[in-house]
Amino acid sequence: MNNTESKKVIIIGAGIAGLSAGIYALKAGYKAEIYEKNAVPGGECMGWNRKGHHIDNCIHWLTGTNPKDNLWNVWKTVGAIDENTEYAAEDRFYSSRLDGKEVTLWNDLDKTRAELLAFSPEDADVINKFIDHVEYAKSCVIPSRKPMDMMGVKDYIEMGKDMADMPKVMKEYGKINCGDLANSFKNPLLKKFMSDYLPADYTAYSFLVSYATMASGNGNIPLKGSLAMTLRIVDRFKKMGGILHTNAPINRIVIENKKAIGIELADGSVVKADEVISAVDTSFLFGHLIDDKYMPKDLRNAYENRTAYPVTSGFQMAFSIKDDFSGKGTIFFDCEPLRIGDNTLTRMSVKAYAYDKSFAPEGRTVLQSNFVQTDIDYEYWASLSPEEYKSKKEELSQEVLRRVIAEFPELEGDIEILDCWTPVTYNRYCNAYHGSYMGFVTTVGNKQMRFKGVVKGVKNLYVAGQWVMSPGGLPIAVVSGKFAVQRILKSEGRSIEI
Ligand SMILES: Cc1cc2nc3c(=O)[nH]c(=O)nc-3n(C[C@H](O)[C@H](O)[C@H](O)COP(=O)(O)OP(=O)(O)OC[C@H]3O[C@@H](n4cnc5c(N)ncnc54)[C@H](O)[C@@H]3O)c2cc1C
Repeated sequence: MNNTESKKVIIIGAGIAGLSAGIYALKAGYKAEIYEKNAVPGGECMGWNRKGHHIDNCIHWLTGTNPKDNLWNVWKTVGAIDENTEYAAEDRFYSSRLDGKEVTLWNDLDKTRAELLAFSPEDADVINKFIDHVEYAKSCVIPSRKPMDMMGVKDYIEMGKDMADMPKVMKEYGKINCGDLANSFKNPLLKKFMSDYLPADYTAYSFLVSYATMASGNGNIPLKGSLAMTLRIVDRFKKMGGILHTNAPINRIVIENKKAIGIELADGSVVKADEVISAVDTSFLFGHLIDDKYMPKDLRNAYENRTAYPVTSGFQMAFSIKDDFSGKGTIFFDCEPLRIGDNTLTRMSVKAYAYDKSFAPEGRTVLQSNFVQTDIDYEYWASLSPEEYKSKKEELSQEVLRRVIAEFPELEGDIEILDCWTPVTYNRYCNAYHGSYMGFVTTVGNKQMRFKGVVKGVKNLYVAGQWVMSPGGLPIAVVSGKFAVQRILKSEGRSIEI
């Protein structure tokens, strides 16, 4: 072993980004140790048990499940999936209801086109244009070989070829948001349908890309859920020789002579490292782990500009129901107005987890509701005293339950609340900024957040995690861990091919 290979890399945070960084660091020949504040690794890629049920709280789709996408190799390298992975047999993205009618975005685009044209012939032009462009959006890939700033002309040409149809999508849907998309339809149900999944201020192209990912078979859901996937990655890390410290919150990154030299644990002791990778939320890195003065300008601008760079979280609930929801997926519907956080909502959804029998005892299914919460809602939840917070959750749980039964009267008498959680839960559990479980939302006209993952003024410190590139999510988390290690390799003049 030469000097370079024996270097020690410390990673802070065992979410998907931190675990990925650990595995790639080991692959590159370094020693790797991860420090995680929680007892269970995984961060936001998580699930937990209640009353004999498993609440799976992350993967609605995992981008990169098609082996033709290079991202698949990254997921395979970290041990998340392989050739034998079994996926949920879901045939749709979601359905929307209004006044007793229902429409669905099927994974089969021809089926969706036919259903929507038959349902609303007066919207034929916008329906055809929408479906054609979802087909084009299937070409969208997330760069996963190397960071974009390390790409050469050849890499860009290759990426251009891979994404040949994306410019068409950007031309038509890059400058409008989901609200505008919805308004281009005449039929009242189709208007709601198009803005049910993503908030109205999200760019419309993000919605098309999300649907295209499902429709192309590149966004499957691995069976057994999010926590099981996290634990497969942890297993890979440990088998490769990595050390994971849990219940180990880090106080700060120790900087000497403009260089990160290690970390300080909660008891004040210092652990030295040759390189440090922060894989915690960037709002926690800057201002807690290191001085806020190091925050890059673009990132600061995003945090300070809550309108152009909103974030989203959820008020969420899980129920146990009798097992008659197979094949229904996610359904949106109108509900009696409900004030949650700082906003009054008139539409809600349920998602049935009937596709994975391991989540519930025989004869039962887990049903979840997720109400989008924004920055201002987070402020509301955070302002409550512990007593107020508890009683608000209890009150809202009953209100949501009543609305679920109003839409699905067949569930009455056989539905039980399993759990309820809020944006504050994510902040407490993961130090997530405003409880957000994705990165900054890409709104029309804002510059997409892209942060190189190095900190000006501090050597040997690298940054991974979903906040380095909008819109965040698991693919950005996993590639950012790999990219952080490639940056270390580059700083040593070594090959970045790992
Ligand atoms: C309900 C829900 C649905 C989602 N659906 C999808 C989906 O369908 N597809 C998709 O791609 N993504 C989805 N996501 C998003 C995805 O879960 C996140 O993007 C991803 O898990 C973020 O990973 P990360 O490693 O960047 O950050 P995190 O998961 O936040 O990891 C950061 C880690 O750092 C730890 N930490 C924080 N502070 C410290 C400290 N001081 N010391 C030590 N450790 C610390 C935290 O505990 C945490 O484990 C969903 C998330 C949620 C909650």
